[in-house]
Amino acid sequence: NDVLEFNEVWKTYRMGSEDIQALRGVSLTVNSSSFIAIMGPSGSGKSTLLHLAGILDTPTKGTVLLNGKNIKEYSQDEQANLRRANIGFVFQRFNLMPQLTALENVMLPMISQDSGKAKKLLDKVGLSDKYNRYHTQLSGGEQQRVSIARALANDPSLLLADEPTGELDTENAMIIMELLQELNQNDGLTIVGVTHNPLSAKYADEVITMQDGNIIS
Ligand code: ADP
Ligand code: ADP
Repeated sequence: NDVLEFNEVWKTYRMGSEDIQALRGVSLTVNSSSFIAIMGPSGSGKSTLLHLAGILDTPTKGTVLLNGKNIKEYSQDEQANLRRANIGFVFQRFNLMPQLTALENVMLPMISQDSGKAKKLLDKVGLSDKYNRYHTQLSGGEQQRVSIARALANDPSLLLADEPTGELDTENAMIIMELLQELNQNDGLTIVGVTHNPLSAKYADEVITMQDGNIIS
């Protein structure tokens, strides 16, 4: 049961008269309930891969399948709906809306607004006493926990995390990785995350290394 499949995916960015090959024929299968960490040097194509996985962009060549569907065959609107219904995003810098409380941030992306469910998600990430805090009243680790709860708002089949521990100290980084591991092991959530931190990567059950637009191991 594959959540995500890349078949010989190429991504070329045009920069003036120059072509930049960000991905050079990447093939990858992400099985349901797996937890994959992507590592590799800056510029090796990690973010590009994550963007394509998140249907934020389409490949120049090759195919990306989400839950068996070739995303190229969908219109922009349909792609946006697929993204909203199936994918949760977690970012390095948390990206919470500053004028909203933790609870309101979790409700924001919900297809059907449900404060009871938002509260349950905040309980799940250990913030049952902080529903009404604003981001300035939360630590970095707590903000990232809100953002994980927000990412779960529509019961995604895939959670994509772009350096989720990049802005956190080691203690908070490990708390966040333990939370992701728990969601993976207890709820069967499929997770693909980019990280530079080998300690964070240890929580994944598979580590993929990229170099020059290829998966090298
Ligand atoms: P990583 O996430 O591993 O640092 P990226 O996927 O961001 O790597 O980048 C891969 C290559 O593609 C790099 O050479 C980068 O400069 C280039 N690149 C990424 N995004 C763009 C873009 N929007 N326009 C042009 N070049 C880009
Ligand atoms: P970082 O904190 O790692 O710099 P960014 O805010 O740059 O994270 O976001 C990474 C990428 O994710 C951006 O290039 C953007 O296109 C995309 N992105 C940001 N916010 C959203 C969102 N709410 N929904 C979908 N994609 C987003």
